[in-house]
Amino acid sequence: MPHRTETDSRKLLRRLRDEMSVASPGQERLDRITTITAESMGVDVCSLYLFRDAETLELCATEGLRSEAVHQTRLRLGEGLVGKVARLARPVNTADAPAEPGFRYMPETGEEVFTSFLGVPVQRLGERLGVLVVQAKEPRLYSDDEIYGLEVVAMVIAEMTELGVFFSDSTSYAATHKNPAVLQGVTAQEGEAEGEVWLHEPRVVITNLVNDDSRAELARLEDAVGKLRVSIDELLATAGTRDKEHQEVLQTYRMFAHSRGWMKRMEEDIRLGLSAEAAVEKEQSAARARLERVPDAYLRDRLHDLDDLSNRLLRILTGQGRETGATMPDRPILVARNIGPGELLEYGRNLRGVVLEEGAVGSHATIVARALAIPLVINVPRITTEALTGDHILVDGTEGMVHLRPDDSVTSAFRDKMAMQAKAQERYASLRDKPAKARCGAVIQLKMNAGLMADLPSLASSGAEAVGLFRTELQFLIQDRMPRRTDLVANYARVLDAAGGLPVHFRTLDIGSDKVMPYMNRPDEPNPAMGWRALRVGLDKPGVLRMQLQALIRAAKGRALSVMFPLVATASEFSRARSMLMREIDREARLGHALPERLETGAMLETPSLAFAPKSFYEEVDFISIGGNDLKQFFFAADRENELVRKRYDTLNVSFLTFLQVIVDRCYETETALSFCGEDAGRPVDALALAGIGIGALSMRPASVGPVKSLIRRANLNEVSELIARVQTRGLETARPALLDYVATLVE
Ligand code: PEP
Ligand code: MG
Repeated sequence: MPHRTETDSRKLLRRLRDEMSVASPGQERLDRITTITAESMGVDVCSLYLFRDAETLELCATEGLRSEAVHQTRLRLGEGLVGKVARLARPVNTADAPAEPGFRYMPETGEEVFTSFLGVPVQRLGERLGVLVVQAKEPRLYSDDEIYGLEVVAMVIAEMTELGVFFSDSTSYAATHKNPAVLQGVTAQEGEAEGEVWLHEPRVVITNLVNDDSRAELARLEDAVGKLRVSIDELLATAGTRDKEHQEVLQTYRMFAHSRGWMKRMEEDIRLGLSAEAAVEKEQSAARARLERVPDAYLRDRLHDLDDLSNRLLRILTGQGRETGATMPDRPILVARNIGPGELLEYGRNLRGVVLEEGAVGSHATIVARALAIPLVINVPRITTEALTGDHILVDGTEGMVHLRPDDSVTSAFRDKMAMQAKAQERYASLRDKPAKARCGAVIQLKMNAGLMADLPSLASSGAEAVGLFRTELQFLIQDRMPRRTDLVANYARVLDAAGGLPVHFRTLDIGSDKVMPYMNRPDEPNPAMGWRALRVGLDKPGVLRMQLQALIRAAKGRALSVMFPLVATASEFSRARSMLMREIDREARLGHALPERLETGAMLETPSLAFAPKSFYEEVDFISIGGNDLKQFFFAADRENELVRKRYDTLNVSFLTFLQVIVDRCYETETALSFCGEDAGRPVDALALAGIGIGALSMRPASVGPVKSLIRRANLNEVSELIARVQTRGLETARPALLDYVATLVE
């Protein structure tokens, strides 16, 4: 076989393109592609296999094998050399195919006569679509140039497959984004939603794959890369030095944008006949295929950076922005690699659900999704490559699962589940204006946790009696600069207005630990959860806390104000914080501003130490709110962010309940109001236990108010209290089984 030259590849590509411009049925086109490729490469066989489903490849066109085998011969992923190419997502090149491990003889194709084999994956942006193979009778190894040339053809086929050029009829191939896919991710916000995909970053559509003039294309690429470099330098210049992580990402972008290797590969692709954008995408696809195989998280992140960079370059080359002119579906489910909190807030409550390929349970986007009460599933592999705008999608936020293009049976089962939940919601809604009054007559106060204005509409709809915890740091977290005092005043005033006279317990800034603000300098700490956080920062560097206290007083404009301080570990910390507040009150009075008609100051009890503070502390505070999330992590020495230990210790563990009883008793003795505002307050069985040991107020996510109220109304708290006492006397480790048995006896 003659050595292939650059011009051969160009000719081949051009012939392929011409072939494609003739309107003909898909199968005919495929047949022509294999014929042209075989001719051009001087081989006996060229065959194309496409995925029929995620596990099965089907021979879809061939030149050289028996034509009767087309659409008959099928292979499992990993089966035979073709299956091996698909599984490894990289070329297999051998001079002696029958001797190669994994070779499988397929008599129907007549392939025994062909000795040499070269197969390359057909893939688009990391999605495996099929395998393209050439074979010849003579035993020969294919050159690097030939491998490269065949990869370029495979890329063109991938693009065409994506555009639906081949099978516009009802035949479905995995490649064509038509088959159902079930993708497992991680729950970040519970709830179910049905709707249509709305891609946050719509794909860049490439229509010209082949170039007429490689010199001109090379110039286009160079020009675009130049613009890309300038844009990254500009980003770097404006990023500032504070956000180290952002800086690092941009530095990596910069490194890639100046990478000779990347550039050289794309230039090579163009010389072989691809257009500049097709060349960018070919390298992007190859990088995505590598991404799937890299086990190291750091390297994976870097490959993601390269992927982002390729997208930027594609947008420069094609001039396509995010705006594609597509109209948002009626029931949009946002699909994105990742999204910032500000962008998510902009979409707001229009969204039915959100699915992210990355993300983190504690991320700012998650905080916003929770505030908006939108089901959110994160860490969903391949979702941005699998989903197309408009695809039917079911989001099971509770199970952390996504059904893409589900079939009818899945959809109807899902709808049944949603209907059941809607019924339960109706039941809860009917309890909205009723008290959480247990059968014994005790009434528990149910409040809600909030942190953004977006939360406030839930106050009325949930039936909560107050905002028991307003996490003020969220406003600081979701923006990229420090809010000004006027911003704070406006925000707090809006919160109080929206609460319409119901109490709001504002918690002062709780930063540090998992809550990091990009614009604030922070020391690197070995163990930030037990480090310089929350009130500790406020007392040591009082500037921001003072500004916040002033803003709260001004926002109250004479209305009642309730302030609570986070992570108070000692009585003196509370006294100092309270004095700061009093000084600000005096100052505001001197400035002639209206003072709150009533002022309450409380402490969050989040460290065991505060439970044993002197009696005078309990007398000084107006109220105590148990921050169960932190208290539990410190009580059991189990990091709340660490998946390995997070769920290891039960809230209904008898030691913990006994400890909580100490706090209840001390508050009872000193007549101090006590509430509990950790996540456990929103779990009905746990909430019942907390109420049973004498905690009279529980603050939780708005969606939990209904279920908790419903259970409390059916229970008798004296019985719960006796049950816990019995478990304690018997020396059991946890009260959960006994409590679950008890709950099972309660009538709906
Ligand atoms: C807690 O620790 O229980 C709490 C309510 O505060 P956060 O979850 O914001 O730390
Ligand atoms: Mg806390």
